[in-house]
Amino acid sequence: MLVLEQVKAGYGGRQVLQIDELRFPENRISILIGRNGSGKSTLLKAMAGILPYKGEILIGEENKRFLSVSEMSHKKRARKIGLLPQTQHPVDMDVETLIMHGRFSRLSWPGRPGKKDMEAVDKACRTCGIGELSGRIVSGLSGGERQLCYLAMVIAQDPEIFLLDEPMSAMDIGHQIRIMEIMRTLKKEGKTIILTSHDLPQSFTLADRIALLSEGRLLCEGTPEELSERPGLVKKAMGAAVRRKEGEGLLYPYVLTES
Ligand code: ADP
Repeated sequence: MLVLEQVKAGYGGRQVLQIDELRFPENRISILIGRNGSGKSTLLKAMAGILPYKGEILIGEENKRFLSVSEMSHKKRARKIGLLPQTQHPVDMDVETLIMHGRFSRLSWPGRPGKKDMEAVDKACRTCGIGELSGRIVSGLSGGERQLCYLAMVIAQDPEIFLLDEPMSAMDIGHQIRIMEIMRTLKKEGKTIILTSHDLPQSFTLADRIALLSEGRLLCEGTPEELSERPGLVKKAMGAAVRRKEGEGLLYPYVLTES
């Protein structure tokens, strides 16, 4: 469980985000939706502890203790939270070396990758289906391939909570379907997944819960079914609404509507 209470964040003294209360349940896929500039990335960065904020962002432990994201050590935070940022730099290193970076918080003394770390990298590559990219230099990959490699790095990190900023933005539909499957697999493994997206039909299909952001504020939060019954709010936040559609074999059983 990730809990936000009275959270404010911004840049250089300009506040762009104010969330009074929001809870992300464990073992669920939650999707943050909002127009460009509505504060989705800012919220992810605050939750990842890389952007200063006011208020409380707390992670519930199994024994019901709550830990503050801003007060955790870097190492502890990296075991709890993994962030896939929106921009993935085209670094000059091979794919396996990049993915091994996800293991930094887990390396035991003397800080060299061991068998367990190699296995975690292999497993992350298999999960993301990027075996054929083995040995390639990241800067020579396509945007979508690079996105998959960075996602594999976060999977190798093995955090409890995944914060993924538009993880499918550079991907063709085949890769998007694969990412949706990866999200569902991570959920089955007990992970908590929070991602941002612009794609309404896809988000409504994938999410257990959706939080709608508008101008840095939480407009509403609920299941896709609940939100599809409030088309006015969705339209206000996104410029289009969503309706459930019945039919066999639909990849996304939600369609965009004008109102
Ligand atoms: P979204 O992810 O929903 O597109 P962001 O969280 O990136 O929105 O942006 C929210 C607001 O914060 C916007 O007004 C944006 O211009 C501003 N902003 C985002 N990043 C920065 C930054 N690094 N410096 C200054 N302002 C920023």
